[in-house]
Amino acid sequence: MKIISDHSFKNWAKNVRFKAPFFTQPETEQEIIDLIKQHQKIRVVGSGHSWSALCESEGLLMNLEKYNKVLELNKPAKTIKVQAGIKLHQLNILLDKEGMALSILGSIAKQTIAGAISTGTHGSGIRFQSLASQIIEFSLIKANGEKIILKKGDENFNAAISLGCLGVISEVTLQVTDAFNLHDKTYVAKFSEVINNIDEYLAHDHFKLWWFPPCDEVVIYTYKRTDVKRNDSRLRQILNDEILSVWAYRMLVKVGNLVNKWRNPINRFLTSQMKGPLDRIEKSFMVFNVPEPPKHRETEWAFDVKDAKELLTAYQQLFTGSHFTFNFIQEIRFTKGDDFWLSECFERDTLWIGAYNHEDKQWNEILNSFEVFAQKHNGRPHWGKEFTVRKNYLEKNYPKYAAFIELRKQFDPEGKFLNRLTSELFGI
Ligand SMILES: Cc1cc2nc3c(=O)[nH]c(=O)nc-3n(C[C@H](O)[C@H](O)[C@H](O)COP(=O)(O)OP(=O)(O)OC[C@H]3O[C@@H](n4cnc5c(N)ncnc54)[C@H](O)[C@@H]3O)c2cc1C
Repeated sequence: MKIISDHSFKNWAKNVRFKAPFFTQPETEQEIIDLIKQHQKIRVVGSGHSWSALCESEGLLMNLEKYNKVLELNKPAKTIKVQAGIKLHQLNILLDKEGMALSILGSIAKQTIAGAISTGTHGSGIRFQSLASQIIEFSLIKANGEKIILKKGDENFNAAISLGCLGVISEVTLQVTDAFNLHDKTYVAKFSEVINNIDEYLAHDHFKLWWFPPCDEVVIYTYKRTDVKRNDSRLRQILNDEILSVWAYRMLVKVGNLVNKWRNPINRFLTSQMKGPLDRIEKSFMVFNVPEPPKHRETEWAFDVKDAKELLTAYQQLFTGSHFTFNFIQEIRFTKGDDFWLSECFERDTLWIGAYNHEDKQWNEILNSFEVFAQKHNGRPHWGKEFTVRKNYLEKNYPKYAAFIELRKQFDPEGKFLNRLTSELFGI
């Protein structure tokens, strides 16, 4: 295992850049344990797909991409045990070959399983929880090099969403499901109509919205879980998902970046192009995951879904009544509540809304304006996305925040796994 000095790191969005004094990619659990014992300051990085500066390291930056094997596949029980660095797209393919699948996914699959778990990564569907809900057991190497195993039902299992602050997650066992298809119906309707009938939309297995402000229409995605055969056309996939949604969209985003006044017409054009309706059946992971978007800035917050009507109305007004111009999709999603201490969905079914923009110039102002709105409505920020609130706000919104801080102190008394951001969140 090579240790590289002065490693230049940048995250996917390129908004976090730093030089890590040391960088390495262990391939075995023993190597991970030895590194933890040898170094005073450590952060783990998955695929670097977080916008927040979670991975910034004053000492060692450890990446587990080479620690990515399947350790055990139990077909009758539908469980899979993997090393923490495996990426979701690798899991999707592996499971598919065995007639199985992850039950829920977010929009992309480039993340590592441990990275996705650690920030509360989620998909959409009010009866489905975040990706971490699929774990039934995981092992953690603590700051002193000790390995512990936490099973669902154990006292500290619910601290699994831990932003790399309790130690290094080493092995993960997931409860998976039989492979399934999704019947995807995508179309456009008035935003106000969706808000007024939100409960009916939420009855779909999976439901999310894309909004291109200031349009008064939104793109509606509904997915029904089914065993009916796939019927999506490969030609449509190449044209729409590989050429138009990637290259043509990137070009329009760039044009909007250069010419501010064209952003709103471009957004209207994009909405009209999605009128479809698209009606197709395809493998679950091919529908959950969308083509990789262009680099952009992003904040996303979790709110109580029971306030969805009022919140969505206020959100629509916030952006249409502002002087901001957007050249990126605003995504609206829903997930079921859970009981992970630091889950953004802790004990409440959740509406996710946020702010997304490609252009950097207005970004700080947009972020600030959205955060004021979000705090007024008791939102909880996605840990992997941009936010500026800190401990004094967060501890009021997470009933188990103090319990997490206590556990962190117990597992890592010297603060080996703390960096600048996580010290501000969970330091003493
Ligand atoms: C294009 C794009 C699309 C996205 N779509 C979604 C989406 O649909 N839904 C959603 O909720 N989020 C989404 N995200 C956010 C993303 O899922 C999260 O930020 C996720 O945590 C990134 O995973 P990663 O493997 O890149 O981890 P990183 O960003 O590298 O790390 C995230 C955290 O995990 C910790 N970590 C990583 N590995 C370990 C380990 N082995 N042990 C302990 N801690 C560890 C790190 O220390 C850090 O705190 C998206 C991001 C991008 C860039």
